[in-house]
Amino acid sequence: MVADNLLSIKNLSVAYHVKGEDLTAIAEITLAIRKGEVLGLVGESGSGKSTLGRAILRLLPASARLKGGSISYRKEELTQELTQLSEKEINKKIRGREIAMVMQNPQNALNPVFTVGRQLVDVLYFKEKKDNRQVSRRKLKGKAVEILEKVGISDPEYRFSEYPHELSGGMKQRVMLAMAFISSPSLLIADEPTTALDPTVEAQILKLLAELVEEYQTSILYISHDLRVVAGLSDRIAVMYAGRLVELAEADELFSRPNHPYTQALIACLPDPERGERLPTIPGKVPDLGYYPSGCSFHPRCRHCFEPCPREVPPLEEVGPGHLSACFLNSKGVEEE
Ligand code: ATP
Ligand code: MG
Repeated sequence: MVADNLLSIKNLSVAYHVKGEDLTAIAEITLAIRKGEVLGLVGESGSGKSTLGRAILRLLPASARLKGGSISYRKEELTQELTQLSEKEINKKIRGREIAMVMQNPQNALNPVFTVGRQLVDVLYFKEKKDNRQVSRRKLKGKAVEILEKVGISDPEYRFSEYPHELSGGMKQRVMLAMAFISSPSLLIADEPTTALDPTVEAQILKLLAELVEEYQTSILYISHDLRVVAGLSDRIAVMYAGRLVELAEADELFSRPNHPYTQALIACLPDPERGERLPTIPGKVPDLGYYPSGCSFHPRCRHCFEPCPREVPPLEEVGPGHLSACFLNSKGVEEE
């Protein structure tokens, strides 16, 4: 493992058990998250982004099966293989304190029967308890109010005593970020944290996230189906399609030299004010689970598809410094039109 990798995922495959069959949702994903970086993870709906994010913290539903691979978390001299930890160990040592997760819908993530303050204090309280330290909830209030202020909640003392239903969507998402950052995790997995918000609030939350990353030096795996959102925030961008990683590069490199036809198509579909109203779309759609095509799973939608594509899975290969892409146009030479 390279020294500055905080999390190294190797050959990770996950299947969902559906009607008596194990259907592969993500296949042989190899990806590292570096210390202090924001890694954007993009792909259309159904490409397996959330499955990957949840697999890291083992927060998958009971129907999911880890079919193979490893997830190695390294902090200072300590390396932990997350796939091998017991439920109790991952809960005590990793979830919330080392790796936190913010979900797409804060409505479901906050408990409606407890005040915002109580939920923030609980994060701290249980952290202390796991470390065998006794501290009263009352003593932790100051830190909770402080973090509410930090995430831009006005009148944090007052908001501390409010219930989730008394907050707007944007405010709830700020509270979710407060809950994630309050225990200073080394890695935050943010799964579409702004998708449910209107564009103005989304922009505010993204700005806040960038500030929090700067302040806490937290690494982020930022999951989104929207390449635009990921572009402004990420150091590197990983592109997924039908359960596989198809391209990985520094954000600038990905936009200036996209290699995979899928990435090229995603970029071509970004809104461009100069081009006018009509947006191009990628013909076809992401295959459903259980119907991933053989070979390169993008081949039915790819305008370059040639002889090996329907038969073989293209390997991820280096196409530039730190730039990986899984396309036969790179390795098998000329394109056959
Ligand atoms: P979105 O952008 O819509 O959130 P995603 O990239 O996060 O999509 P996943 O939610 O990881 O995609 O889903 C990957 C595939 O696994 C999809 O085909 C989805 O229908 C399927 N899937 C997800 N959860 C389950 C489940 N609990 N049982 C069966 N199939 C599932
Ligand atoms: Mg998802």
